[in-house]
Amino acid sequence: MSIKVAKFGGSSLASAEQMRKVRDIILADKSRRYVVVSAPGKRYNGDSKITDLLYLCHAHVQYSVPFNELFDIISERFFNIVNELNLSIDLNPYLKEIKHKIETNASVDYIASRGEYLNGLILSEFLGYDFIDPAEMIFFDEYGSFDSKKTQETVANRLANHENAVIPGFYGCSSNGKIKTFSRGGSDVTGSIVARAVKASVYENWTDVSGFLMADPRIVDNPKRIEEITYDELRELSYMGATVLHEDAVFPVREAGIPINIRNTNIPDNPGTIILNDKSPKIRAGSITGIAGRKDFTVIAIQKNLMKSDIGFVRRILSILESNNIPFEHLPSGIDNISIIVENSKIEKKMEKVLREISEQCKPDSIDIYPDMALIATVGHGMAYTPGMAAQLFTAVAKAGINIRMIDQGSSEINIIIGVENKDFEKAVRAIYYAFVV
Ligand code: ADP
Ligand code: ASP
Ligand code: MG
Repeated sequence: MSIKVAKFGGSSLASAEQMRKVRDIILADKSRRYVVVSAPGKRYNGDSKITDLLYLCHAHVQYSVPFNELFDIISERFFNIVNELNLSIDLNPYLKEIKHKIETNASVDYIASRGEYLNGLILSEFLGYDFIDPAEMIFFDEYGSFDSKKTQETVANRLANHENAVIPGFYGCSSNGKIKTFSRGGSDVTGSIVARAVKASVYENWTDVSGFLMADPRIVDNPKRIEEITYDELRELSYMGATVLHEDAVFPVREAGIPINIRNTNIPDNPGTIILNDKSPKIRAGSITGIAGRKDFTVIAIQKNLMKSDIGFVRRILSILESNNIPFEHLPSGIDNISIIVENSKIEKKMEKVLREISEQCKPDSIDIYPDMALIATVGHGMAYTPGMAAQLFTAVAKAGINIRMIDQGSSEINIIIGVENKDFEKAVRAIYYAFVV
């Protein structure tokens, strides 16, 4: 029988009530044999995520501020779940050990990972599934990079001996034997690793929305669900801020051709979104797949007549960025101009120095700075095959009274990026959405 790996996000496991929904989903399909869990997330708007509280504990210790009350709040959340579910697991020894380790300067990664660890113990007892600590099978190398080969072999061998298991997400083990986490949202990556190792037929990613939506539901009211999306479209969207899925979660399953199915724990009958291999894109000519964007970029627009004949001009600009350790996002260029797009936070403190170096070494005719810009990506395979889509997009934004400061169409042709001022961001996203979606 085929195997499904099901990963449940923080909001899906935030309370006993949510845990019951999760159990119903898992028990409804015997092929859901391996379950990856996040730490409890927010139960309601304004609530705290356990992971955030754990990071806060670490910060308290750093500044020698007592963290007893904070730790009690964390403990209480777990006790409540266990009590409401009538489970017999005694969390006291676990919490005591964790608290002791926090007091004795445990690493930030160890502390942050304990939300997933405890939640995994709870759900494994609730389901009657084995508990497997990912510290024993997900590895990072001596440079801190994820060790894919060693991990895949170990996870495959380990899980072969378990009919059913719950595995905490978000962390593994570094080469010196210490706990190491992925970046925030990293339980998605764990789910993908496990799915690949057990050769799952599908990687189900259960969250609090009915799949990948065509735009951020916090910006567009009730956006349409994307039924199918390719890995490369998804990567463009998640990189640009559609944070439903961690951007690194794509790689393990993509290589193995395993589809990801984003599903809603609160509406389990909804089919959600299927993310498929790029070889099988359903080309929706004339339509877009989705829109995503992020705020807080700086555009440095450099103008130089006959730029193209000044050999080495772009190289000099790039080496200035490199020597100042500034990564850039995009580098659109025209005949006599080039723009560098950088995250505000990466350049703020170095702006003067960088501008001086560009002036001295590149001798441009002008440099204009546009701070506080937002980038919006409109993504879809359907765009590459339909003339006039870019014009339709620009017209929609212009009609909304918004200035486009920058346009960049990636060489993949599945993504058109525009730059607008931060203040126009939400309005521009809505304008694009309504131009293409009826
Ligand atoms: P989980 O805790 O289950 O991992 P996340 O909070 O990481 O869930 O991701 C789901 C959230 O992503 C949604 O609640 C939604 O607010 C946000 N989101 C942003 N962009 C989109 C989009 N295009 N489609 C769906 N959700 C989106
Ligand atoms: N709990 C971790 C976080 O909040 C990991 C995750 O939820 O995927 O980032
Ligand atoms: Mg997430």
